[in-house]
Amino acid sequence: MNLLEGKTAIITGASRGIGKSIAEKFAENGCNIAFSYASSVEKAQELEKELTSKYSVKAKGFQSNAADFDSSQSFVDEIVNEFGKIDILVNNAGITRDNLLMRMSEDQWDEIMNVNLKSVFNLTKACLRTFLSQKYGSIINMSSVVGVMGNAGQSNYAASKAGIIGFSKSVAKELGSRNVRCNVVTPGFIETEMTAELGEEALKKWSDGIPLKRGGQPSDVANACVYLGSDMSTYVTGQVISVCGGMLM
Ligand code: NAP
Repeated sequence: MNLLEGKTAIITGASRGIGKSIAEKFAENGCNIAFSYASSVEKAQELEKELTSKYSVKAKGFQSNAADFDSSQSFVDEIVNEFGKIDILVNNAGITRDNLLMRMSEDQWDEIMNVNLKSVFNLTKACLRTFLSQKYGSIINMSSVVGVMGNAGQSNYAASKAGIIGFSKSVAKELGSRNVRCNVVTPGFIETEMTAELGEEALKKWSDGIPLKRGGQPSDVANACVYLGSDMSTYVTGQVISVCGGMLM
């Protein structure tokens, strides 16, 4: 299918996990890809090669810290120069620094807020002028079911992911009249390096509580992003789409 033919997407944090799968699905659908990562230089180079050779799209990886306001602005400026436009922004980069509130340090709180929430502000701000002048744009922000349900040991992460939802609904209201859409995806338990850290026992406990009785794959989340990035969803904005095997009902 070519649901994103001729479009250009920015995806933050695409060297692995969900972001990588979004880059692959987007490229498979004809989309040119500019993506960022924090430190995985080799993985990013491999992905760049895979996207250009397998799907014949333009693809480029940038080592750029999404938590930094000025770097995000230069990252986007460089993409506009090289790719000419931005149709889709996927704010996917995210980390965890889990701890019970009793033991949580100020650094653990600040790091999560900067990487998970401030990054969404940074990249959205940096793309805004381009979206407004094009009178077109689809912003997809990666939250989590934890941002809606809460989770013991993740008060920092849950707060950052809930913040993304409030931010996105406000942006959808501000920019709707300019044909710029903003939606949120809330993945449930998706099998990536982030969740592999939890170990076998925790994995089993999580999947027992999921109506579909299994963890999701990064491609399950990527499929929802293809829909939100494509013209199949031109009348969809300000929405939260859960990809969670029924965890959130
Ligand atoms: P992951 O496997 O840990 O990958 C994280 C990606 O983000 C990597 O590409 C990493 O780059 C990049 N990254 C980290 N910090 C960054 C920064 N400051 N600037 C730019 N890029 C940065 O994570 P994932 O499981 O795919 O999760 C992706 C998103 O989905 C996150 O927002 C996460 O909160 C959300 N999510 C995940 C799950 C799940 O079950 N996995 C569930 C709900 C929501 P490097 O490789 O260079 O470190």
